[in-house]
Amino acid sequence: MKDISEIRSDFPILATKVYGKPLVYLDNGATTQKPLSVINAVNEVLTGYNANIHRGVHAISDRASEEYEKAREKVRGFINAGKREEVIFTSGTTGSINAVAFSFGERFVHRGDEILISCLEHHSNIVPWQMMCERKGARLKIIPINDKGEVIIEEYLKLLSRQVKLVAVTQASNALGTVVPVKKMIESAHSAGIPVLVDGAQGIKHGVTNVADMDCDFYVYSGHKIYGPTGIGVLYGKEKWLTELPPYQGGGDMVENVTFEKTTFNVLPFKFEAGTTNFPGAIGLGAALDYVLSVGRENIRYREQELLEYATQRLSSIPGLRIYGDSASKISTVSFLLEGIHQYDTGMILDKLGIAVRTGTHCAQPVMERFGISGTVRASMCFYNTREEIDILGTGIEKVISMFS
Ligand code: PMP
Repeated sequence: MKDISEIRSDFPILATKVYGKPLVYLDNGATTQKPLSVINAVNEVLTGYNANIHRGVHAISDRASEEYEKAREKVRGFINAGKREEVIFTSGTTGSINAVAFSFGERFVHRGDEILISCLEHHSNIVPWQMMCERKGARLKIIPINDKGEVIIEEYLKLLSRQVKLVAVTQASNALGTVVPVKKMIESAHSAGIPVLVDGAQGIKHGVTNVADMDCDFYVYSGHKIYGPTGIGVLYGKEKWLTELPPYQGGGDMVENVTFEKTTFNVLPFKFEAGTTNFPGAIGLGAALDYVLSVGRENIRYREQELLEYATQRLSSIPGLRIYGDSASKISTVSFLLEGIHQYDTGMILDKLGIAVRTGTHCAQPVMERFGISGTVRASMCFYNTREEIDILGTGIEKVISMFS
């Protein structure tokens, strides 16, 4: 694996200072930083071949279309999807889930049906289903979690009734770090004839995601969570589903023939890509995936697990600090509270020390409710973080405690 100083120099923002102190960026669950190769790839589009894709007959439009489709191929390979037709570019995880909720709901969900999600979900994997259930007269059912923040599999199996039309579950919790046994859950759902959508927003950068092996029906993620640009995301769907589902947006590029009487739709994947897509973002995402592969996904996972272990030990040694979420399998996220100190106060003081952490519900309010708290402080690390940064966090937390005592 590349040496850590070499890795850090790939990410220009990591050299930033805030309040005159070196930035300690521990908010990677919210968004990740971008390596120069991604910044350069987007810059190259905008300075060298910015032209609308798929429509032009001129040279730079051809080049943009070609690079966009190359990016689709990179996304396909990265998650081991069978066909490029199964890879749709969207605006992000939220965009992808809303697309499935709308299209799947229109075609397959009726009054009295159920959609099954877990208590761990991000609001993006709750609200679109709720809206769809309301439209269709269906019900949202929730798989409970235990005190460690793990999905209770026995309860899940009991909930897999004939009424369930789809299971939507996260690969990893952004709020607690729990890695969810999605493969096992998909197997059980499939044996009851139920398709599964996996929210890969956090899982995509954790180890190797293989949709063929996982056998999920839909897999969604955001570019910005895996070192790519914002405003670009992925919806993977098995061809049989994408063929059957109606488009969720109408417009240019997604059509084959338009008359005022009738419109016929384009083939996959274009049927789901109405209007001008974020092609610079897609090309940037392709560059991000190349970067991840060049560092090595197993290397990244190993390093992040080391950081998780180190951070868990360091933070657990602080009296009055309680960690939420101690699942046996976690991404490198530590969610915690300090006794008697509000999470916002902790976050604000840490900020003044140059440490960027997230505070609040992490868009997962039901998880907070499950633990009877209003929010946590979350440190989410990735492979460009260091033990020294975790030490700075530890010392910062001790300073917060001493200020309040
Ligand atoms: N699901 C999970 C598990 C997430 O962590 C996030 C982002 N925090 C989302 C969905 C939503 O992602 P986006 O805002 O990029 O659409």
